[in-house]
Amino acid sequence: MAYDLILRGGRVLDPSQGLDTTTDVAFSDGKVSAIGPCLKPDAATEVRDVSGAIVTPGLIDLHTHVYWGGTSLSVEPEAYCRGSGITTAIDTGSAGPGNFHGFRRHVIEPCPVRILAYLNVSFAGIFGFAPRVMVGESEEIRLLAPAEAVAVAQANRDLIVGIKVRVGTIGSGRSGTVPLDVGLQAADELGMPVMAHIDDPPPNYEEVLERLRPGDIITHSFHAFPNTPITPQGTVKRAVIAARERGILFDIGHGKGSLAFKVARVMLANGFMPDTISSDVHTLCVDGPAYDLVTTMSKFLCLGMPLKDVIASATINAARALQRPALGSLKPGSVGDATILKVENGRFDYVDALGEHLPGEKKIVPHGIVIAGRWWHSSGGPQASRT
Ligand SMILES: [Zn+2]
Repeated sequence: MAYDLILRGGRVLDPSQGLDTTTDVAFSDGKVSAIGPCLKPDAATEVRDVSGAIVTPGLIDLHTHVYWGGTSLSVEPEAYCRGSGITTAIDTGSAGPGNFHGFRRHVIEPCPVRILAYLNVSFAGIFGFAPRVMVGESEEIRLLAPAEAVAVAQANRDLIVGIKVRVGTIGSGRSGTVPLDVGLQAADELGMPVMAHIDDPPPNYEEVLERLRPGDIITHSFHAFPNTPITPQGTVKRAVIAARERGILFDIGHGKGSLAFKVARVMLANGFMPDTISSDVHTLCVDGPAYDLVTTMSKFLCLGMPLKDVIASATINAARALQRPALGSLKPGSVGDATILKVENGRFDYVDALGEHLPGEKKIVPHGIVIAGRWWHSSGGPQASRT
């Protein structure tokens, strides 16, 4: 078989296959085509020596804001993803049905990184998010647009993976659970999952969980009090455990206000790892405290989460949440995306949404990105060679 690209001699860490071994990975026609030792190139094959580095399925950031220029909170996706080893960025509700078409044409289609989206059930998406202008798009019930959201999602099923709803005093003011109930109606009609954002009550964490259906996602799930998943006694709330047993997925969505180390420590000590680790990158957290996906993953690594689980949370677990089984895996036949990483040892200062500092000894650093079977970007890591 003729390969377009071979990644040679890396530590291939792919939780979707329980794989952690030093070997080669080859790509053809935009897909992963082989894994194994000493894969043979031909004259047209690009060969990259990645020995000393880790090769994972392409990283998926399940919670980002990348409708750059169309919404005030969004960052520019190409530069962001290049810096964080991301091959698929999921925009969560920056756009609503009233402005998704601009997102598609002006941002998603020209971008070399794959962008998928949860569509906001509020008509114009997250339109009023800035340091001195903060208007929740779910505050005004007249903006909730389930029929329009269903129509736009039906017409863009290649890109739209679910419905986003923000509830809490920032996202929905005093509307309580009403926007979530409306979003769930749209998601039911579409047969798609909901990603529900929580911030401060109302509504309560428990009121949100009890509405969610198996496969729905709660983001900002490791939020500090109020609306925290833990009890004052240092256990996980019963409603949280029951929701996981029902199939609700727990996403991090670090952002500006949503990851507290003291909550994460309790959750991990109780054996409750997040299903997905994501950045919630936006303009008010990209320069800290969240920074990006690999920094958020590094925090969990330093909190004691095993590396294979940290990688799973941004690859196969995210792909499952998206219901896109061809992503998040290096199984032959999967989408040909990979990320090349190193875990550096040293002394690193991490900070959470509450301003708590965590001295860490490990840092996940991206060294290269493969998208659709082509080497897209390297950042001081592996060097190119051609046979
Ligand atoms: Zn967000």
